Amino acid sequence: MKAAVFHQVKQPLTIEQIEIDDPGEHEVLVRTVASGVCHSDLHFVEGLYPMRTPAVLGHEAAGIVEQVGAGVTEFKKGEHVIACLSVFCGHCERCLSGETWLCRNRPTRGANQTPRLSKAGEGLTQFANIGSYAERMLLHENGVVKMDDDMPFAQAALIGCGVTTGVGAALNTAKVQPGSTVAVFGAGGVGLAAIQGARIAGARKIIAVDMVEHKLATARDLGATDTVDASLQDPVEKIREMTGGGADYTFEAIGLKTVAEQCFEAIRPGGTATIIGMIPVGEKVEIPGSALLSEKKLQGSSMGSNRFKIDMPRYIELYRQGRLRLDEMITKRTPLEDINDRFRAMKDGEVARSVIMFE
Ligand SMILES: [Zn+2]
Ligand SMILES: [Zn+2]
Repeated sequence: MKAAVFHQVKQPLTIEQIEIDDPGEHEVLVRTVASGVCHSDLHFVEGLYPMRTPAVLGHEAAGIVEQVGAGVTEFKKGEHVIACLSVFCGHCERCLSGETWLCRNRPTRGANQTPRLSKAGEGLTQFANIGSYAERMLLHENGVVKMDDDMPFAQAALIGCGVTTGVGAALNTAKVQPGSTVAVFGAGGVGLAAIQGARIAGARKIIAVDMVEHKLATARDLGATDTVDASLQDPVEKIREMTGGGADYTFEAIGLKTVAEQCFEAIRPGGTATIIGMIPVGEKVEIPGSALLSEKKLQGSSMGSNRFKIDMPRYIELYRQGRLRLDEMITKRTPLEDINDRFRAMKDGEVARSVIMFE
């Protein structure tokens, strides 16, 4: 099958023919129809996070079940599905406590088993146990959820990572309350989803912070009540002024140490700052210790604290009702061959989301 292969940091991915294994026990083979281009993939290409190469990146995808392995009862050939990197074992303490997104024992193939992806006998890393920059994905059944046949694939793919991450950060991780004030730093795909999550939760003021005017315009369209252009003014000062002393909730949706620190500074006493972005390995986030006396809280959010087999069908329902707007978040649909240009566009801040379409 055709795949975009990542060989070396800061080098373009190359389009190659690779092999994918047959589904084993509890595995599902899915034909990829749409794959979003998420910022997390770029973090690995840029070398901010380590990865064993060669690898197939891509982790925000929807497709059609082609074949199921032994023991799979939940899925059958022809069903439309969304993949999720929060694949869970169902047996560990986190899973049994209902926190499946924090599973400590994610099911995948071990080093002594045939690799899911290979080329000329050499195994390839399957990023996030998904690897969606390829015509097919071999997934564990606990990393897949069914969707209705009339749900469009590109929009469904976004639910696979960015939307679940952002909406879930607001609804599940921070539990934004009706009538509250919220500020979201970064109006890319995940930030726009967090803004929508805050809107769905009923926040009365939603402040989008970015440095690109057209992103702020999209943010206003999708639910931000106010915007701050951080290239023109100090966002912390401005948020304090707009909220009478600090927001109830702030979200970091970029992955920068300085912005994470601003997020913490911009909350009121007792407020909560939630960091969604991937801050590069080894970097520290520093906060003034005395601020803890006022019960300010700083927390991380992993994949929107999702229980995706419950959450994703709900997000689809919200999309159908027009309350979760996904059409506006897709700025470009392209073939796999354009992947490197799509990374460039993301770095240049051109797009909310590019989606690779396989058919
Ligand atoms: Zn992602
Ligand atoms: Zn588990």
